[in-house]
Amino acid sequence: MIKLINILTIVMISSVLFSQNTRIPVKGLALFSKDGHFQPYEFSRHAIGDNDILIDILYSGICHSDIHMGRSEWGNTKYPFVGGHEIAGRVIQIGKNVTKFKVGDYAGIGCIINSCGQCNNCKNGLEQFCEKGMVGTYGSHDYFNNNEITQGGYANKYVVSANHAIKIPSHADIKRVAPLLCAGITTYSPIHFSKVKKEDKVAVVGFGGLGHLAVQYLVALGAQVTVLDISEEKRADAMRLGAVQYVNVTNLEELKGFENQFSFIISTVPAKYNPVIYMKMLKMGGEMAIVGLPSYENMPQITLDSFIFNPNRKVYGSLIGGIAETQEMLDYSVANHIYPEVEIINADGQSLDDAYNKIVDGKVKFRYVIDMKTLK
Ligand SMILES: [Zn+2]
Ligand SMILES: [Zn+2]
Repeated sequence: MIKLINILTIVMISSVLFSQNTRIPVKGLALFSKDGHFQPYEFSRHAIGDNDILIDILYSGICHSDIHMGRSEWGNTKYPFVGGHEIAGRVIQIGKNVTKFKVGDYAGIGCIINSCGQCNNCKNGLEQFCEKGMVGTYGSHDYFNNNEITQGGYANKYVVSANHAIKIPSHADIKRVAPLLCAGITTYSPIHFSKVKKEDKVAVVGFGGLGHLAVQYLVALGAQVTVLDISEEKRADAMRLGAVQYVNVTNLEELKGFENQFSFIISTVPAKYNPVIYMKMLKMGGEMAIVGLPSYENMPQITLDSFIFNPNRKVYGSLIGGIAETQEMLDYSVANHIYPEVEIINADGQSLDDAYNKIVDGKVKFRYVIDMKTLK
C-alpha cells in the first residue's frame, strides 16, 4: 500500500512538473556567425505560462533590422541567431488565464513579446519604452523566463504573452499581414504623432519596405506625398501607390527646389546618407521623423549647426509603437486595405541568404515574406 501511494505521488508530482515545465520544441533557420549562411536549427522556447499563447507561425517577414542583427552590425550579436519580428500565425494553445485569444484565431507578433506591465510607460501603452526594458522578439534577455535569449520568427512556433500579441481579423490577407507588425507600425506611429492631415505636403525618404507603407498611410490621410529614393526602377510604383511626385536623389538636378517645402518628412533609410539634405526640405514648423537605422559603421551624423541654421523645425526619432497602437494600426490597415507588396519565399537557407543579399542591394520590391509551412 505504501509503495502504491509512493508511486502515485511520484506520478502526480511528475505530471505537475510536466505541465509547468514542458518546453516547446521548435524548428527554425539560424545564422551561426556574422558572415555565415542560414542553416536549419532546432531549439526550444519556454513553456506556455498561464498568460501566454502558443502560435503556429504561418508567415514571417524579413526586416532590414534582421540583417543588421544577423550580421552583427549593431553590436555583438549572440549566435545561433534566429531573426524575424514580423510574425503572422494561428493560435494553437492558450494559457489558463487567456481570454483575448482562442485556439484557431489568427495572431501576430511584432518586435515586443513582453514588458514589465507596471511602469508608467507600460501603463500608458508605450511598452516599447518600458522602464525595465521591453523583451524583444529576438536577441533579447527574457527576464520572465530565466533571462534566456529570445529567438525570432524564422521558425515554426512562438510562445508569447497574450497581452503582447496582436489580434488579426479572420478576413485579413494573412500572407501580407506580417510586415505590418514592424514596417507598418514603425511608419504609422510617427505619421500620427506628427498629426499629418489632409492636403499636407509631405515627403517619404527611402522607398522600401517601410517607405511604401508610409506612402499608403499618408495617401489614405489625403496628404500630398513626394517620394525620394536612389532607385529609378521604383518611380512607377510610387506613382501607382498615390504619390504626387518621385525624386531620384542620385540626379542632382531633380533634387533642386525642395528647400522649405514639407510640413512632415519620414526618413526610412537604413544605409549611409546625409539627413541634413532633408532637414532643409522642412518648412518652418515642419517635423522630420527618423525611423531608418543604419549600421553603426554607416551611421549618419547631424551636427549642431544644422539645427541652428535650419531653425524652428523639429527632427525626432521614432521606435515602433506600443501594443494598443499596433492593434489600432493593424485594424486600420485591414479595414483600408493597406498591405505591403510582398514576395513570398520558401523557408530554406538558400532562399533566406539570397533574400538578405537582395535587400542589401536594394533589389526587393518591397518585402520578403517567408512561408513557414515550407520549412522542412
Ligand atoms: Zn523590423
Ligand atoms: Zn514597463
